[in-house]
Amino acid sequence: MARARLVAGNWKMHGSRASNRALLDALLKELPVQGVESAVCVPFPYLAQAGERLTGTALHLGAQNVSEHAQGAYTGEVSAAMLAELGCRYVIVGHSERRQLYGEGDAQVAAKFAAVQKAGMTPILCVGETLAEREAGKTEAVVGRQLEAVRFESGVLAYEPVWAIGTGRNASAEQAQEVHSFLRQRVPAQTTILYGGSVKPQNAAAIFAMPDVDGGLIGGASLVAKDFLDIVKAART
Ligand code: PEP
Repeated sequence: MARARLVAGNWKMHGSRASNRALLDALLKELPVQGVESAVCVPFPYLAQAGERLTGTALHLGAQNVSEHAQGAYTGEVSAAMLAELGCRYVIVGHSERRQLYGEGDAQVAAKFAAVQKAGMTPILCVGETLAEREAGKTEAVVGRQLEAVRFESGVLAYEPVWAIGTGRNASAEQAQEVHSFLRQRVPAQTTILYGGSVKPQNAAAIFAMPDVDGGLIGGASLVAKDFLDIVKAART
């Protein structure tokens, strides 16, 4: 069976009710794109708004984070069951911004990954090395360790080199393929592996043409309807 192709937007901490409505309306005018699944991972407060707009459409809903706990005295946290109830299909776990800015380690990421699956959703697990780790020749050791920590049996995997996220400096198609091929050997054959890190309409087609790249996780460019749609179209086989 062919691996599913997927382009997921990560809106990060951007949006307003008005801008979300305009963006989703513009996306839905042109989706679906045949042969490519698409999703938007929106901030928690807008999940209900986006969920209502996306019900019955081809654009799937996702969240950007989740608590590893099922429920309880965890002020400010959001459980996987809550996200499932709001209609989320995907949840990003282990994004480098969570790892770096909020101190999430492999064990916590693994617990979040398991919580998402237990609630019937699909985790998008992010792995990636920093520039210092790449320059020290540690890329495979780092992404291998991050992957191993979750005992990955199913889900979506996203290779996101930290030095490429939000920097305008994407990995070359060859650099992405090299790491994707390493990851591919460590996950079930049908696993969708996304590349993320400064994907734009101008570089998407070359990266997505690599044999082990099945689509993208898109930050900045997912906030501009035309850019996101062009990137989804670039993922067609
Ligand atoms: C991301 O946040 O996952 C990401 C890849 O961001 P950007 O596309 O802006 O580099």
